Amino acid sequence: MYQKGRAWIELNMNHLLHNVTALKALLPAQCAMMPAVKANAYGHGAALIGKALQKNGIRSFCVASVSEAIALRNAGITGEILVLGYTTPHQFTDLAAYSLTQTVVDYPYARELSSFGTPISVHVGIDTGMHRLGEPSENREAIRSMWSLKNLNITGVFSHLCASDGTTNTERDYTRKQIQKFQSVVAYLHRNGIRDFKTHLQGSYGVLNYPQLSFDYARIGIALYGAYSSPDDQTVAQIDLRPVLTLKARIECVRLLHAGESVGYGLDYTAVREMRIAAVSIGYADGIPRDLSNKGYVLVNGQRAKMIGRICMDQLLIDVSEITQAAAGDEVVLIGKCGDQEIAASEFAAYAGTISNEILSRLGERLERVAG
Ligand SMILES: *Cc1c(COP(=O)(O)O)cnc(C)c1O
Repeated sequence: MYQKGRAWIELNMNHLLHNVTALKALLPAQCAMMPAVKANAYGHGAALIGKALQKNGIRSFCVASVSEAIALRNAGITGEILVLGYTTPHQFTDLAAYSLTQTVVDYPYARELSSFGTPISVHVGIDTGMHRLGEPSENREAIRSMWSLKNLNITGVFSHLCASDGTTNTERDYTRKQIQKFQSVVAYLHRNGIRDFKTHLQGSYGVLNYPQLSFDYARIGIALYGAYSSPDDQTVAQIDLRPVLTLKARIECVRLLHAGESVGYGLDYTAVREMRIAAVSIGYADGIPRDLSNKGYVLVNGQRAKMIGRICMDQLLIDVSEITQAAAGDEVVLIGKCGDQEIAASEFAAYAGTISNEILSRLGERLERVAG
């Protein structure tokens, strides 16, 4: 048991490896995992997660920015690291110096990368309908002509699905169109004698909902961490994913609140009867959304306790009237299991009106990450 912290994250590395195995079993044999370890590995700790994955044979990773990629290199990650987002020309030197692979966000950017002068490895982004990054899939000539740019070392071509988590006909039709557009760009390049590149299209929900697809990589984020985005998400492939992260803090003190007394900033909660309340050592600076004020739950000694009053920067308050044994120093579980009770990241997120991806990726620097 971890004894030190005020608020911390416990990582279950067995669950991480279990998820890797479960997801690998779902992927076609020639498809490798390219885990998304951006945003500090969705809050889990990029160095810890990256190293554990590398030790288990994973050779490709994707991140959002050059600084995230450099942090991984400094942690000892030696394989391919794809930067999914835009990199300013000021940082092109780092792409070369750290042997990173950059996403080509559109044709003008391909020219800009090539004009840097030193060869840079890239994956070409193709926009098949998300309309965020990537050269539009219709512009086949422009896409093909990127291979004539002198300093681009194109090792991959990819696109991104924007409704693959959806189960409505509209969402499924849209996703099928995106898949077709991507496959048709790849076929066009092949017909033109360009074959020496890897392909990838799916993120977690792309894999879980379209498991029959066959590309070279799958950019899996949230599923690898054993979380679903929302508690009621249904997926075509149903696999046993196990949560890697448990978020914990401690009870700082317990006190009585008389009927009519209020708690916290703005007198936002007033007791209607005598209550026992506890202050907990975690707050919005650690990534607990302030929007959870009077809405969220935590687990104490295997029982649920409601958050009351406004979430503070470093603390929050809970109602422990029914948890008579609750005392200062006790562990509080915000995300994860405690006794028979569990609050999944997706459930925690739903109380705050968001998805687990946002909650996890915003878990703060101040939280210590402890691998178990
Ligand atoms: C973050 C990201 C992923 C991973 O998405 P998950 O839904 O968490 O699996 C994949 N591809 C791109 C382009 C991303 O930005």
